Amino acid sequence: MVEMITKGKEQVRGKSVLLYSGGMDSLMIDYLLKPDVLLNISMNSVYDKRERESFPDKEIVYLDNVIDLGRYERDDAIIPNRNAHLVLLASHYGETIWLGSVSGDRSFDKDQEFYMHMEILLNHMWQSQHWTEERRFEIYSPFKDRTKTDLVEEYLIKGGTEESLLKSYSCYKGEEKHCGHCKACFRKWVSLENNGIITGVEYWQKVPWEAPWLEEVMYQIYNGGYRGDEDTDIIDALEKTPRYVDLDRMEASSPIGWRSNENG
Ligand SMILES: [Zn+2]
Repeated sequence: MVEMITKGKEQVRGKSVLLYSGGMDSLMIDYLLKPDVLLNISMNSVYDKRERESFPDKEIVYLDNVIDLGRYERDDAIIPNRNAHLVLLASHYGETIWLGSVSGDRSFDKDQEFYMHMEILLNHMWQSQHWTEERRFEIYSPFKDRTKTDLVEEYLIKGGTEESLLKSYSCYKGEEKHCGHCKACFRKWVSLENNGIITGVEYWQKVPWEAPWLEEVMYQIYNGGYRGDEDTDIIDALEKTPRYVDLDRMEASSPIGWRSNENG
């Protein structure tokens, strides 16, 4: 067996790590699965600072000034392929790496195939060799086949509180109050609304159901082609708002509305 030079750093073996953004998903997954390590990696993005203000009072490993992905942030706040960087960093803290993605997330750096590829890559790089013993990784999102609405439901059933959900922050704008119109805000609203947590107009700068981009994707949502399973959740939430008028209009004009397509 190879003698390791850096024995002290090998305490990561067998540990589970959750990539912790402080957003609602990672907050709920922490509560439900209790990982060994919560890892928050600052990317110097516009929303980093505001996110941290919302963090619960518990032990979190903060990685600052390790990676400056903020410089690659696009105008829409997306940092392309950021999860590949984050998983590589997380591999120094444990071998089971959890990401907080849910059904409805669309990027290819958080889907099943991505997890598989990263697992293969890390297992390849951490084969037994002259400088190390073998490490074997498991990388996945435990709630990938559930929607955000489902996850909130499970969290509340298992004793999670509304208050901590409301306190969590995931707005792309990084301002004090949730903007209400970015995709992250909108999806948060949908999942809360569907679980009877009424945020009201106070919580948002602008109410989510009036997000201007909704108009462009309304037809897709209606036919389940926007975010898959999450589209039904979106419709359920929108039906309780003045937007129900648009949904009715689509039902009248579409031969294959979501109602007949629910199990599709
Ligand atoms: Zn927002």
